[in-house]
Amino acid sequence: MANKKIAVIGAGPMGLACAYELGKKGYQLDVYEADDRIGGMSASFDFAGLTIERYYHFICSTDTPLFELLTELNLSDQLCWQDTKMGFFYDGKLYKWGDPLHLLTFPKLGLIAKLRYALHIFYTKNISNWEKLDKQDAVSWLKKWLGDKTYHLLWGYLFELKFYQYKDNISAAWIGTRIKRVASSRRNLSTESLGYLQGGSDVLLNALRNHIIKHGNIYLNSKVERVIVTNNKVQGIIINGEQRYYDTVISTIPLPYAVNLVPDLPPSILDKIKAIHNCGVVCVLLKLNHSVTENFWLNVNDAKIEIPGLIEYTNLYKKPEHIVYIPFYMPKTHHKYTQADNLFIDEVFNYLKRINPDFSTDWVLATRVSRYEFAQPICTPNFYQKLPAMQTPIQGLILADTSHYYPEDRSISESVKLGKTLANLSIK
Ligand SMILES: Cc1cc2nc3c(=O)[nH]c(=O)nc-3n(C[C@H](O)[C@H](O)[C@H](O)COP(=O)(O)OP(=O)(O)OC[C@H]3O[C@@H](n4cnc5c(N)ncnc54)[C@H](O)[C@@H]3O)c2cc1C
Repeated sequence: MANKKIAVIGAGPMGLACAYELGKKGYQLDVYEADDRIGGMSASFDFAGLTIERYYHFICSTDTPLFELLTELNLSDQLCWQDTKMGFFYDGKLYKWGDPLHLLTFPKLGLIAKLRYALHIFYTKNISNWEKLDKQDAVSWLKKWLGDKTYHLLWGYLFELKFYQYKDNISAAWIGTRIKRVASSRRNLSTESLGYLQGGSDVLLNALRNHIIKHGNIYLNSKVERVIVTNNKVQGIIINGEQRYYDTVISTIPLPYAVNLVPDLPPSILDKIKAIHNCGVVCVLLKLNHSVTENFWLNVNDAKIEIPGLIEYTNLYKKPEHIVYIPFYMPKTHHKYTQADNLFIDEVFNYLKRINPDFSTDWVLATRVSRYEFAQPICTPNFYQKLPAMQTPIQGLILADTSHYYPEDRSISESVKLGKTLANLSIK
């Protein structure tokens, strides 16, 4: 029934990919977005004359759903690959990292520890069934492979500073797919190669938008307040107090919002949704007239630096100035989450000075701080069982968010894949 009316809530990559698929099949649809722009976490803004994403985005060679969509949209020629370097700032010193040679020459681990580390990456890269690891917690799994000392040196700080109170309750499968994704994105054993879109994520988002508006509307600044349900069947949505009628509603917004959006959901599903926690991010973005290091990704384990890493984006995608993202991940309940922007920026300046003593605030051309409460779902062991089904018992209502990528980590590619799945589910 291609004449049924469909509403998609959220114009991030998942909502747009879903709407694009439905449009291709001839469905009438409307997309509702609370923000003043499309893109969600991958949206861009004007950073003192440079259009750039609020949060860093890189592409890995395993992002097949994204590549297929780019081909379909005639955008494959915008996909660029760059050999990138990784560094490790450990205990006040910067080391080269990320390939066998630099692992071998890293002075803080013994030979056996290095072999165990390399073996673990090799093993994880070849996992294809994640069911067994879904049942294990990541810290125990990593310690079993690497030993306590190596775990604390290479992973402990990241777990502390990314997951806080959740750190001992993260699924090993989820960490495993992260390791596999990045480890698989290599041109050869010694060279990491990462991708980006010429023109940024906007290139993809705008192409999707241009297709969608041939089949319906994208309403910006349009926060959906409620999904209307009667007799266990979707009737439409409420926006600005006004009712709009739809046969099917597909929500791609963070699941925690669904509690107020669809209070008619059965209590068992609402309980499942409430049990999934998220980590927020406060991301400092700097435009500099000097480079901080040669690395795209710099892992950090240093008692004086309270971030697990920083991303010097222009070491992937060259720009006239140097762009550095410094993400502070933390649950929104953390006392720092609501701290003023300038405090985060000052903190970052101190960190950069420690990493590169030449750093001076004279290097700084522009600053920006972006926050997102639902940057990362906390995927705990046995997460498959904990996820609510995307097809709800309410007829015509589908709910999904980035936690449904599981065991994969968030990425635009996973949103594209899931968007297509949602479209197919809604017309079954
Ligand atoms: C710090 C950071 C780094 C990242 N790095 C990478 C990377 O390197 N590579 C990569 O591929 N991906 C990366 N990602 C992930 C990528 O951005 C996300 O996976 C992707 O954007 C998720 O898209 P989505 O549509 O599923 O959700 P979202 O982007 O969260 O979109 C949801 C949308 O719903 C809207 N919304 C919320 N409530 C309502 C409402 N009531 N009514 C209407 N609209 C509503 C929101 O405004 C938002 O636009 C990163 C994300 C972050 C935060």
